[in-house]
Amino acid sequence: MDTDDKMLQELFALADKVGKKQYHKLTSQDFDNYRKFDHWRYINGDGECGTTPESKQWVKDNSDWNCPICGEKFADRDGRTIDHKLPRAQYPWLSLDFRNLWVICRICNQEKGEMHWYEYEHYILIHYPDRYQDIAFARPRKLLQTLKER
Ligand SMILES: [Zn+2]
Repeated sequence: MDTDDKMLQELFALADKVGKKQYHKLTSQDFDNYRKFDHWRYINGDGECGTTPESKQWVKDNSDWNCPICGEKFADRDGRTIDHKLPRAQYPWLSLDFRNLWVICRICNQEKGEMHWYEYEHYILIHYPDRYQDIAFARPRKLLQTLKER
């Protein structure tokens, strides 16, 4: 088994472990946050990211010209979107946790879908090995740590 296989197996084991903890201890505050995020992002319709003054400013402060995943210019990839590193469907209490948000292009966002972070790292490793370093660097370590404690 080479190093890459070992890393993959560890990723799968972690994804499985974390996945089993999803939906534990959800509170009404968690769901409030989920809805607030929708409001924050989508108040003027869902066609565009950053449609409130606050979310526009946040996107501006947290992105430059290029998508951190594919490295292409946002303008050439259907624009910017706010993505949840750990998907909202699985972790609604992280909907409005800014450590969980990043700005990526629309095409990468669609491709990422509802994958768990570790699944996504695995996906990238298989399909775009040259991007893997950047994705591993963007791993939300602190959040994943809090999931273990939850
Ligand atoms: Zn991209």
